[in-house]
Parts: sequence; structure tokens; C-alpha cells
Amino acid sequence: MKSHDIGHGIILTMGVGAGSCIECNNWDECPSCGSRTCYFDCDLSQLMDETEQDARDRLVANGKMSAIMSMAQNMANKGVPIDTIKEVVDETYNDMTNEV
Ligand SMILES: [Zn+2]
Repeated sequence: MKSHDIGHGIILTMGVGAGSCIECNNWDECPSCGSRTCYFDCDLSQLMDETEQDARDRLVANGKMSAIMSMAQNMANKGVPIDTIKEVVDETYNDMTNEV
């Protein structure tokens, strides 16, 4: 098992053979409950001053992060070298966060 920091808070861990797992510590979480999927779901978020727009932006950002992680893991499982994965993740992240 070897873990690689592939940027943007994403950690890719390669197991023996084709196995891999991927984690991220760069989620945009609900300021109240810490969930990355919460959309005014928790009791506290009803009382906080996060706006609907902020909550939507947060969910969109997390959706993009999920897509990038899935892509990175699939590349790893196909045997793409880590350096290439890092580059593609970085470029994709920048493309996705710079779009209007
Ligand atoms: Zn919440």
C-alpha cells in the first residue's frame, strides 16, 4: 500500500494489484454539521447564516471534486502513472474551478 498526495487535498492509495482507494480532505462542508451533502438538512443549518446560494455552490464544488476523484481512481486502476494522474487532476481541477 502506498499513498500519494495527488494535489487539491486528494490522497490516492494504491494497493496490491489493481486495487486502490481514494480520499479527499478538501470537501466544502456544511458549516453547521460538517456534512458535505447537507443542504439545510441539519437542524443547526436552519439557524446559520449560510445563504441558499452558498449552500448550492458548496454542493456543486463537492460534485466536481467527486468527479475528479472518480476520474483519478479510474486512471490509477488502468495503470496510468501517478505523475500523469497528478497532472491531469490539476488541469481538470483548474478547468472546473475557473469555468464561469
Ligand atoms: Zn448541515
